[in-house]
Amino acid sequence: MNYTSTRDSSVKVSAAYAIATGISPDGGLYVPENIPELTYDELLAMTKAGYKERAVSVLGKYLTDFTEEELRECVDGAYTGKFGGEDIAPVVDIADNRFVLELWHGPTCAFKDMALQLLPHLLTRSVKKTCDGKEIVILVATSGDTGKAALEGFKDVPGTRIIVFYPVEGVSAIQKRQMVTQEGGNVGVCAINGNFDDAQTGVKKIFTNPEIAAELAKHNMAFSSANSINWGRLAPQIVYYISAYADLMNKGVIKNRGEKVNVVVPTGNFGNILAAYYAKKMGLPIGKLICASNSNNVLTDFIRTGVYDRNRKFYTTISPSMDILISSNLERLIYDLSGCDSARVKGWMDSLAATGRYEVDEDVKAKISELFWAGCCDDACTQDTIKDVFVNEEYLSDTHTAVALNVYEQYASAFGRDVPTIIASTASPYKFAPAVLGAIAQDKVSEDEFDMLAALNSVSGMEIPSPLAGLKGKEVRFDRVCDGCEMKETVLDMLGIAE
Ligand SMILES: *Cc1c(COP(=O)(O)O)cnc(C)c1O
Repeated sequence: MNYTSTRDSSVKVSAAYAIATGISPDGGLYVPENIPELTYDELLAMTKAGYKERAVSVLGKYLTDFTEEELRECVDGAYTGKFGGEDIAPVVDIADNRFVLELWHGPTCAFKDMALQLLPHLLTRSVKKTCDGKEIVILVATSGDTGKAALEGFKDVPGTRIIVFYPVEGVSAIQKRQMVTQEGGNVGVCAINGNFDDAQTGVKKIFTNPEIAAELAKHNMAFSSANSINWGRLAPQIVYYISAYADLMNKGVIKNRGEKVNVVVPTGNFGNILAAYYAKKMGLPIGKLICASNSNNVLTDFIRTGVYDRNRKFYTTISPSMDILISSNLERLIYDLSGCDSARVKGWMDSLAATGRYEVDEDVKAKISELFWAGCCDDACTQDTIKDVFVNEEYLSDTHTAVALNVYEQYASAFGRDVPTIIASTASPYKFAPAVLGAIAQDKVSEDEFDMLAALNSVSGMEIPSPLAGLKGKEVRFDRVCDGCEMKETVLDMLGIAE
């Protein structure tokens, strides 16, 4: 299977090339030329397989230039022993036809691990297949969770370097602590003055700047991306929706062939929900894709109106990994829904870059409203939901997951609860302990982030994940801060190749 660019249909590259290079030189995102099919027989076979086998079988459909053995090695390396047991992505029944898909049992306690534990394995093999010998420089812009998950995935991976930029005011205390204490000889971390969009825009500019590429080439280095624009991030995410459906078949929740589930995803960059869209397009019986946003509700408006407009107030919320006004992966969706019309997509993206706004055509709008439903919820409602679900279902959710739970309630009050619904849970509640504690035991909120982990443990009885408990004694290794316009110099400096 070949991959093309959302902005130039003449592009044709292998999966390995798409993964090794991250983004197409025209600024577009790599997409598979067609979406492979998942048959009912394959789905039935999945019910008898474990997560890793399911992953090998789904990935094999997309990464056709990898052998099954290579994929098996990648999947084993990513998931064996790192997700606290055999159930890599467990589905938890919290009553009323709601099934929480817990994606945060990996080493950094957020769903980004699902892809970022696998990506280094895919990427190093991809580099061998395509541009052997070069040292790969991974640049990451993070709203909090990607950065740490990427650092953890790539630390001390031979032939790679990784540099992470995070917005100085935009991440939680725990997220920041996780990143600035990162171990490993090939890692670098820098805060930037600005928000996530500034960091992401800066990273994209560096990627597509030919002078910087030439500078790296002189030192036998090449950029790649671990952001969710990299196809190697997206493909692993398709797996867990299919896996969750197979689990629901096993639990007897899904009884009949083709019986539909709805899927709710707390959304930021649109990567996670896009993976669910691809799963549906492959043939997984998904009814509605429900897109949940926090107060940065640019996607809610887009799905309801077809107008994408980032010219609005930016809110710093208690679900910071969704504080995003430019959802990069949406480009892949509108590419697909426009009938793979790269000229139209390029027009919309040019308009987004120039004016911060674009409006899709009626044909695309119609498809969006058939496939998706969208809602949003602010911080107060998020905390109310954490409390309600904790009190009523004895289930503790993090702030991002709570946004999804809240938006699902909005959907259910309009359309009912008859359809079993998978709710993507994207982080451990401990990762956002102050806000979660504030929701269920306001009097226990304190100044010290580690005291709050202990307090949350005593109130909820839920175990503190060991990677978070272990942060306390770790040394701070990275305290650098720069402006958006200094990112290029910072990168060259951190690589030790500044002039
Ligand atoms: C990244 C992230 C999201 C948003 O996922 P997208 O793929 O960017 O839409 C939601 N919740 C958490 C905890 C995250 O880390």
